[in-house]
Amino acid sequence: MIKNCYIHIPFCDKICSYCDFCKMYKIDDFIDTYLDSLEKEIKSIYKGEVLDTIYIGGGTPSSLSLKQLKRLFEILSIFNKSKTIEYTIENNFENIDRDKLELYREVGINRLSFGIETTNKNHLKLLERELDLDKVNNTIKICRELGFNNINVDLIYALPNETIKDLEDDLKYIYSLDVEHISTYSLIIEDHTKLGINNTKNISEDLDYEMYKYICSSMKSNNYKHYEISNFSKEGFYSKHNTCYWNNDCYYGFGIGASSYIDNMRITNTRSLNNYCGGKYVKEVEYLNDDDKMEYEVILNLRKSNGIDLDMFKSKYNKSLIDVYNYKDLIDLGVLVLDNNHLYIPEDKWYISNSIIVDVLERKIYG
Ligand code: SF4
Repeated sequence: MIKNCYIHIPFCDKICSYCDFCKMYKIDDFIDTYLDSLEKEIKSIYKGEVLDTIYIGGGTPSSLSLKQLKRLFEILSIFNKSKTIEYTIENNFENIDRDKLELYREVGINRLSFGIETTNKNHLKLLERELDLDKVNNTIKICRELGFNNINVDLIYALPNETIKDLEDDLKYIYSLDVEHISTYSLIIEDHTKLGINNTKNISEDLDYEMYKYICSSMKSNNYKHYEISNFSKEGFYSKHNTCYWNNDCYYGFGIGASSYIDNMRITNTRSLNNYCGGKYVKEVEYLNDDDKMEYEVILNLRKSNGIDLDMFKSKYNKSLIDVYNYKDLIDLGVLVLDNNHLYIPEDKWYISNSIIVDVLERKIYG
């Protein structure tokens, strides 16, 4: 049963120099056509399940005008929502206002996500982003006045020429906002982005590690729980939607470039606006057998602080994880912990989680 849904709105007012997401400049004619196609795609695929999470991401959903947002929510009103739904929308401080926030309240949005990324003027310039701190403070104030009590902000670190002091300043400012959730991203410069084309270099791995460690300890001192490799929240405010990915649960993904996990298929939508608006939504389908699914189970669940629930694994696959991957020596080495029937990577080893996950997968028992 599918309980989660992602909606992609690819439009942005400006394109950031590091951006590797599926996005494009906002052009009003495109938006109307896109929303019509989105409606058709949803109507052709959604089976009426009651949803526990809806996440509207992008791009920048808040770059849509009030009228376009109204049309979007009219389309999304087709979804049956559980009483405890987590309904999130991503926003940019530069194009959000009270009218849009009021509309969000009316349609049942109860979680807001904002990109801050950095507060440092030089770093913002490099990222080709703008951020007016007065606007940020005022927007958060309006959100609270309107009753939003679940807000996320995104932080990017490991920026070229960034120092630990710069990172400290960013975190200090973010803590002053007293938001419920903070997502962090270490900047990875992809070749085809503007930064990549300009041959901008990543910072050293040692400094990246220092910054990660600094973030982890600083968040702890400020009462944010480190519940996933890059995500921190106040008690009870973990992202239910993103946790569905890490739990390897099924989800719908609608819109250009979106991905879905439905039954035994991981589906990736086209990134071509022409194809999408012409009704050719899907770019590729990966068909999964049980071995593939168990592999995803390990890769995704080990990102979380509570790791893999071994009872859940057994009930899903009718076999124990230890009979599929012989990971015992990794527990002896201290890179995995078995506690209360959960298998997880201890927090001080999260920085090398990718190699630990590979080690688990390499211990597959064949036959
Ligand atoms: S606002 Fe977000 S999606 Fe748009 S260009 Fe910048 S990083 Fe990419």
